[in-house]
Amino acid sequence: MFTPLSDKPDHPALELEILDVWEQEQTFQQLRDRNRGGPHWSFIDGPVTANKSLAVHTAWGRTLKDVFQRYKALRGFDQRYQNGFDCQGLWIEVGVERELGLNSKPEIEAYGLENFARKCREVVIKSSEELTHGSKRLGQWMDWGSDYFTFSDTNIEYIWKFLKIVNGRGWLYKGHRSTEWCPRCGTSLSQHELSQSGVYQDRADPSLFVRFPLLDREGEFVVVWTTTPWTLPANVAAAVHPDAEYGRRENGEWVAVKLFPGDTFVEKLKGAELVGWRYRGPFDDLGPGASVEHRVIPWEDVTMDQGTGIVHIAPGCGGEDFELSKVHDLAVLTPVDESGRFYDDYGWLHGVSTGESADQIIGRLGETGFLVEAGLYTHAYPHCWRCDTPLIFRLSDDWFISVEEIRPKLLEENAKVEWVPEYMGKRMDDWLRNMGDWNISRRRYYGLPLPFYPCSCGHLNVIGSKAELGERSTEGFDQIEELRRPWVDRVPIRCEACDEIVTRIPEVGDVWLDAGMVPFATLGWESPEWIQEGYATGAARGLTKADLPDHAYWEKWFPADWVSEMREQIRLWFYSQFFMSVVLVGTSSYKRVLGYEKMLDEHGREMHGSWGNMIKAEDAFDQMGADVMRWQFSAQPPDRNLLFGFGPAHEIKRKLLTFWNSVKFLVDYSNIEGFTPSWERLEPDVDLRPLDQWLVERTKQLVVEATDAYEATLTMDVIRAFESFVDDVSNWYIRRSRRRFYEFDEAAFRTLWYALVQSLRVVSPVMPFLAEHLWRNLVPGGPSSVHLAPWPEPVEPDRELLAEIAEVRRVVELGRQARSASRLKHRQPLRRLVIAGASARAQAHTEEIAEELRVKGVEFGEVEASELRVKPNLPVLGPKLGAALRDVREQLQRGAFEELEGGRFQVDGRVLEPDEVLVERVGREGWAVASEHGVTVALDSHLDDELLLEGRLLDRVHEVNVLRKETGLEITDRIKLWIPDGDLLDRYSDRLASETLAVSIELGELRIEKA
Ligand SMILES: [Zn+2]
Ligand SMILES: [Zn+2]
Repeated sequence: MFTPLSDKPDHPALELEILDVWEQEQTFQQLRDRNRGGPHWSFIDGPVTANKSLAVHTAWGRTLKDVFQRYKALRGFDQRYQNGFDCQGLWIEVGVERELGLNSKPEIEAYGLENFARKCREVVIKSSEELTHGSKRLGQWMDWGSDYFTFSDTNIEYIWKFLKIVNGRGWLYKGHRSTEWCPRCGTSLSQHELSQSGVYQDRADPSLFVRFPLLDREGEFVVVWTTTPWTLPANVAAAVHPDAEYGRRENGEWVAVKLFPGDTFVEKLKGAELVGWRYRGPFDDLGPGASVEHRVIPWEDVTMDQGTGIVHIAPGCGGEDFELSKVHDLAVLTPVDESGRFYDDYGWLHGVSTGESADQIIGRLGETGFLVEAGLYTHAYPHCWRCDTPLIFRLSDDWFISVEEIRPKLLEENAKVEWVPEYMGKRMDDWLRNMGDWNISRRRYYGLPLPFYPCSCGHLNVIGSKAELGERSTEGFDQIEELRRPWVDRVPIRCEACDEIVTRIPEVGDVWLDAGMVPFATLGWESPEWIQEGYATGAARGLTKADLPDHAYWEKWFPADWVSEMREQIRLWFYSQFFMSVVLVGTSSYKRVLGYEKMLDEHGREMHGSWGNMIKAEDAFDQMGADVMRWQFSAQPPDRNLLFGFGPAHEIKRKLLTFWNSVKFLVDYSNIEGFTPSWERLEPDVDLRPLDQWLVERTKQLVVEATDAYEATLTMDVIRAFESFVDDVSNWYIRRSRRRFYEFDEAAFRTLWYALVQSLRVVSPVMPFLAEHLWRNLVPGGPSSVHLAPWPEPVEPDRELLAEIAEVRRVVELGRQARSASRLKHRQPLRRLVIAGASARAQAHTEEIAEELRVKGVEFGEVEASELRVKPNLPVLGPKLGAALRDVREQLQRGAFEELEGGRFQVDGRVLEPDEVLVERVGREGWAVASEHGVTVALDSHLDDELLLEGRLLDRVHEVNVLRKETGLEITDRIKLWIPDGDLLDRYSDRLASETLAVSIELGELRIEKA
């Protein structure tokens, strides 16, 4: 006996049950034990930032990771299953700052760096527990408890080692340049950090046209445009395009002619002729401005798409401006400190922030006659990816890794990586070609301490390990709790060149160094021995049982066979690990990538907590269940944004219900008829009917298609294959075999059971809970878990047979469409069906077609009963024909055309191609027609008395069956039946009896009784 199934699955409830079962039976452990020593498949998990609980977009990535790990496990692959947490950097710091109510660097320092570090660690611990909890609920199987934490001393030491190697190659340098800077966080950000989603947001800034009075041309001005008023006090030059034409308005203002086509100019000059003009700066009354000679310089990159064609240049406040300062030997004014406030030599602006200064600056420009016009300008402007503060450009000394020398090698190695979707590999290639040097330093606290000890003798000491630090330290080494600030800062070393005592720079590292090191630090690269729990060092002590493996282990598991993350990781984690790997060992750290686009809400909007459209993972688990979420994630083509929500979940539940009902059908009838399957005799080995044979082949096809899809890492193709299979089982096999289940036809039971069992196996990586729940019911005596049954061997199906039935199903589907279009009830029998364009395959199945479509006769031949309507496809044909279109249209309308091969038409002496016309086939009076892909079916819709009577019979049968259900009778119960129709009773009493299981039928008001 199978356990009876309820009317529909309660996903959340059955999932919690299955989680318990897995826990009790140690299913995952059994799976790992079974696969140990098998072929290995290396997946490396990109660390999730440990500052929150599980979010639905994180659940998407985790689902994909789990799906493919489960699939590979079913195929016998040994895997590592190591989960990772990202534990340092601004994400963590800013969260803690908020919690503690701190809002600036001085406040953090006053709070104390030891306490701050401990607080950050607490956040990581709490979040890692929540993330683990959520991931388990999602069904993700990982080696929980042996996770890697990027704040472990081991990870940090590995990065030190990397940096020492980089320095040894001469690629490490300290740069002085203008970079994107977050005034709240007080640090510069790197190019790749700006590529994260959410960085560019629309924002309304002041739009100012400002004129600078020329010193040598009385009453004349150059006019510039800016959206950052705070940079005007740092102006030193105005740039013109040397080849562009500039004009002087009557009021003395010089602008580019092209940008003001409506203006009248009294004098015109080429940009090159303006070069060298001197002007008075807008804030020369403030100290720094007065010390500078302001002049017009040439610049080829001046664009003519907005502004005035004359560009305000402030080298201390812009990246390109700074580069120009080197070319033209311009002064560099740095007006604001690291918190974005004006220095004291800026007089009345002293202490004012860049944002606050706008109004005062505009007011002042108005008073001094510099302001031409002030308005607002909305544009996409970069914000701090962590704290959302608008970024500024600021001159800063940062540490960089030079990429020029290694760039060709990076490109070469990326070309060997297999990217899915392919365009993401191209994106990586573009990034690698165009990226600048890697800014690795951040002026923050909770991060990788950069092991740089510059000495006044000019030598840069770079420490490569904790042991080296110990050997070279002069004091404080013993008090190091963790390799981080503030403890490390208290350990000076001796310069290896001059023996002087030197201290560490205060900067910490870019977090992407932390995550990029993972393929080395977690796998034991160059580690001389295996150390049990050796990864649990520093802040990670006590949080994980992860070992530090030895080098042989690294050789076995490196590079990863597969990694998978969101597209934005191209410039982040995919990049940082790839870069570090090519530097260290000359190859990529992964062979294959699956990237995917963004998650939006079900209406296509970004999800935001403040918009009320953010879905919490916990709510999604409770309301849709993990399997439905996983289905939504898996059905998504990776090259498009996922529209996630409860609406789509509802649709998925509906589809799953079809599957559930097919299983329920088998369960119900098996229990009635006493069918007991056997795992040992999985494939039906009794005499099969053609329909059974087809389902066996159809099942093989599912296994082949699903296997191909998993191998190509395309879950949406798994879903597609499964959905179409479910439709075939439910709407063809079961529909056409129902009767055989009422009268215990073993072949039918065996075949359906086999098909359902195999489909559970192939869909189990996507829907591990539902598959497990049904497996445990359907496969007594088999492996205790669907996840412990091996992958079904893909066997090439009989393609000819499959194509044959697919053709029959297409014909039937068209017949149904034709019926619906003509509003003919599906129960109403019809006289005749004509099929045109179907291959000979379908002819062997006329009986089935007739039965499915309730027609008395099926003919193959031309569908003369249809009328062909052809219209011009205007967008295509209009431009092509011009004035001749009218005649063509008229002739088409009159039917004066001839149909040619391949969907082309001859009209008015011309041949129209298939894309130039719109074709419609309509049933003539008395015919219902539908057509698709060259197959046309026509139903004779004329109803004679005979057909109407039979139609009424079928209506009655239907009514009786509804009554049976309502009365609560079992499907096998015999009944006594009363019907009001004497004519039906006379003509069809036998059929009525057999189709309603009636033992007696009498005339009377419609009712039934249990016999
Ligand atoms: Zn910030
Ligand atoms: Zn020295």
